[in-house]
Amino acid sequence: MSQKSVKPIQLRSTFSFVRANSWYAAIALAFITCALLLWSNPILGQITGRSKPPQQRVAWAYPTNYGERLSQDIDGSPLRNPFIVVIHETVGSASSAVNYFQTPNYSSQGDQVSYHALIALDGTIIYTVPFQYRAFGAGNSVFMGSNGPEAVQSSPRVPASVNNFSYHFSLETPVDGRNNGNNHSGYTANQYQSLAWLVRYTRVPDARITYHKTVDRSGTRRDPRSFDQNYFFQALHSQQATHQPSLDAPLLVALPVGAQGLAPLQRGICCYSSSKALSFSS
Ligand SMILES: [Zn+2]
Repeated sequence: MSQKSVKPIQLRSTFSFVRANSWYAAIALAFITCALLLWSNPILGQITGRSKPPQQRVAWAYPTNYGERLSQDIDGSPLRNPFIVVIHETVGSASSAVNYFQTPNYSSQGDQVSYHALIALDGTIIYTVPFQYRAFGAGNSVFMGSNGPEAVQSSPRVPASVNNFSYHFSLETPVDGRNNGNNHSGYTANQYQSLAWLVRYTRVPDARITYHKTVDRSGTRRDPRSFDQNYFFQALHSQQATHQPSLDAPLLVALPVGAQGLAPLQRGICCYSSSKALSFSS
């Protein structure tokens, strides 16, 4: 008698337990699915500020086209300028800029030009000069910030410039801007996202993010034309809101030296033909 009355109760409680846990499992599964969608979907990621790291590769400039960052000015005074970000555009294609940077040039600093990174139309970041070196991205130039005018003269033969304390990033110009007219159709959403991702890693504050046309003193530079400043800062801030910069951010300390299996880059050792896909965790 007693067994007959116990079994249904046990079955019912077992069924309740399984049913309750199925609900928990379903809720957990839905939660994980949503999290994965938000993490992996570029559009949702853009809205939430969480996007996958952009595509990246390396195409080193020839070592004559960049230099050491100096610790002293030519008069011997110590240099302690905080970094700035200078945003450019290529006017030509990204591949033609890379080809130019990879051309050995020994004639003068005026012909020796480079950026630290290019951002292609599809958003791919192409690293061309190691961040710890001085890319020759701006000639005669000055940064006007809260510390007053800032420029460094690295040689008596060339005018002072912002290069010593700059990260130079350049956006590939869209095809309709290659004629160097007054404006063009603008940059892609992928380019803005990649630029924001890259700038976030430099940890340069908004007040020290500037443009080539702003720091130029030659009166000849207009880049980046048709740059949507509001869109860029929106992208930058949405990334900063959800991602605290990591102290071991690879771009600052490990990239390009020794990053992801690349041989350590040494000054004078030519790495300009290197072209290797990198994959970072964000
Ligand atoms: Zn420029």
